[in-house]
Formats: sequence, C-alpha cells, structure tokens
Amino acid sequence: MNEILYIVVPCYNEEAVLPETSRRLREKLETLAAMGKISPQSRVLFVNDGSKDRTWEIIRALHEECPLFSGVDLTRNRGHQNALLAGLMTAKDRCDMAISMDADLQDDVDAVDAMVDKFQEGCDIVYGVRSSRAKDTFFKRFTAEGFYRLMSLMGAETVFNHADYRLMSRRALEGLSQFREVNLFLRGIVPMVGYPSAVVEYERGERFAGESKYPLKKMLSFAMEGITSLSTKPIRYITLLGFLIFLVSIVMLATFIVKWALGMTVAGWASVICSVWAIGGLILLSLGVIGEYIGKIYLETKQRPRFLIRTVLEEDDG
Ligand code: UDP
Ligand code: MG
Repeated sequence: MNEILYIVVPCYNEEAVLPETSRRLREKLETLAAMGKISPQSRVLFVNDGSKDRTWEIIRALHEECPLFSGVDLTRNRGHQNALLAGLMTAKDRCDMAISMDADLQDDVDAVDAMVDKFQEGCDIVYGVRSSRAKDTFFKRFTAEGFYRLMSLMGAETVFNHADYRLMSRRALEGLSQFREVNLFLRGIVPMVGYPSAVVEYERGERFAGESKYPLKKMLSFAMEGITSLSTKPIRYITLLGFLIFLVSIVMLATFIVKWALGMTVAGWASVICSVWAIGGLILLSLGVIGEYIGKIYLETKQRPRFLIRTVLEEDDG
C-alpha cells in the first residue's frame, strides 16, 4: 500500500499560477502520505514546455526548497501533448502510478484521492471526467460537444468529457510508451492501451490565473489532429460520397435523355454552373482530406523525436 505517485504537470508560461498550484499539490501529497495511502517518495513533476516567462526559475526554486518538487525542462515549446508525454515518460521509471494534471487548477486537486483509491482497487487507468460544464461559456460547451460527437462519428474511441486529467499505472505507462507514432493524441491512444479502467467525476473549475493557452485556432487543429490520427473514416466517407454523386449523375443523365427524346429542351446554364461548382468544391475538399493523411504519413516517416529534454531535476542536485 505504499506506492509512489507522480503528479505530472505540463507548464507553458504559468508563472501566475505556479505558487498556488505547488502549494495545493504539496498539501495533497503530504496529506495522502500521512494517511499512508501513498509513499513519501511521491513527487510533483513539473514539465517546463519552453516557457518564455519565469516558469522554469520558479520550478527550480520549488525543487531547491522542497524535495517533493521535481522538474523537467524541455529544449523548446513542443505543445501540451508532447510536454505531458515527456513528463509521463520521465515518471514511468520512477513511480508506480502517475496522474497528469493541468497547471491552472482547473482540474480539481481533491479528485486525486478517489483516483488513488481506484488504483488501489486494481484499476490501471482512471479517467477524470467532468461532471458538468456549467462554468464553461456557451461557445466552449457547444464546440466541446461537437468535438466528442464528431470523434465518435469518425469512429475514434474517446471518453466523453475527459480531458487529460487521468491516472495511469506504471504498467499502463509502459504500454503507452510502445505506441511509437510521432503525433500522439493521448486521449485517443490511452483507451487503446486497455487494462482495467475506471472513471472519477470532478467539478472543473475556472482557470486560477493567467490566460488559456488554447485559443480557437489551436483547438481546431487539435480536433483535426485527433480525428486524422485515430481514424481513416473521412477517406471512406469521401469514397461513399463520390459513389453517391456518380449515382445522382446517372439518374440525371437518364432523365435528360428521356426529356430530349420527348422533345423537351432542358434549360442549361444554371444547372451546368451549379454542378460544376458543387463537384469542383467536393473535389477540392476531398483532395484536402487525402492531403491531410499524406501529410501525416510524411511527418511520421521522419520519426523525429517528440521532445528533447534539457534538464531533469534530480534529488541530489537540489
Ligand atoms: N500547455 C503546455 N504547452 C503548450 C500549451 C499549454 O504545456 O504549448 C499546458 C498549460 O500550461 C496547462 C495545460 O497545458 O497546464 C492546459 O492549457 P490551458 O489551461 O491553457 O488550456 P485550456 O484549459 O484553456 O483548454
Ligand atoms: Mg486550463
């Protein structure tokens, strides 16, 4: 019952929230260790994702002040998913379970207790699922809903209303490390790892301080990334669409021939222009979708590293 827990927190320009986040996480680890639920060797592992502000200095100072805090410094900004992965892969060889959490305290720290309980009951993966979206703006709720619906329509298995707040056992992390694709979409890959899993509900709060690092443009590309990395259904749909249009054109042709035979002239211009534009648009759209996948193949074949680590703060150099 004395397993080591690592809480992995990716940070990009988070100087405004780190003092409060670290205070809350330290309190949590100390309480859980005092209750005998986790080992006193447990740590908070901050990942600095190439921040431009004082984030890394704060992490270093925290580490020097208290051995509960550790840190990984990436060579440059690689984005949330890669920063998270860098942290999880660093934690993998040091812990029995790791929880990933955002730096901005939107993920309720108190849900950690329930996650650890589930782990001790034998679950390898525990998904933090938000119980309501009442605090979100209408726009965020609407786009998020659309995102999950689209994902399931495209045949990508994700856990509804689960972001990246989750616990993974060491064995699940080992499994995750075997997914070698460069562009890893964690939310879709983790369910593929399998192993016994459970869900813990929590109330998602507002960002404690600072600004969201996910503006609409990033959110859209994240959704696109998610769909194209988990499913090839869009290509299948294009094939179907092409087939349907072909059928429609056959029917149209037949009608026109019959009308011509009956001596009725068919008005030309509008229908020609409409069909040329419609087909042209569809062809461009289809090429774009296929291009997305070819771009993916191109990027994957290069097998570039997903992240490079500059420094890991170890116990003895604190
Ligand atoms: N983040 C990161 N690298 C980035 C962007 C974001 O490590 O390039 C981190 C950020 O510091 C935070 C988490 O990812 O801990 C989620 O970001 P944010 O809270 O801004 O997203 P939102 O909650 O608004 O979707
Ligand atoms: Mg946030």
